Amino acid sequence: MSRNDTGCGLAERLESARMTARQHADGGSCFHCTSDGCEQNAWAQQELTQHARRTPAPSEND
Ligand SMILES: [Zn+2]
Repeated sequence: MSRNDTGCGLAERLESARMTARQHADGGSCFHCTSDGCEQNAWAQQELTQHARRTPAPSEND
């Protein structure tokens, strides 16, 4: 079950997705990671990819 599916605004979801992607970018992991991969990271990449098709990619300036 994921609480990402309901109750969150787009901006909040994207912020969460960006944080998750950043966590994994350095070869890191999160508490959702398993030996089979990471559903949380898969979700994050999907969110960011979908959003990137509609608007310019978010910068890393902040
Ligand atoms: Zn993970």
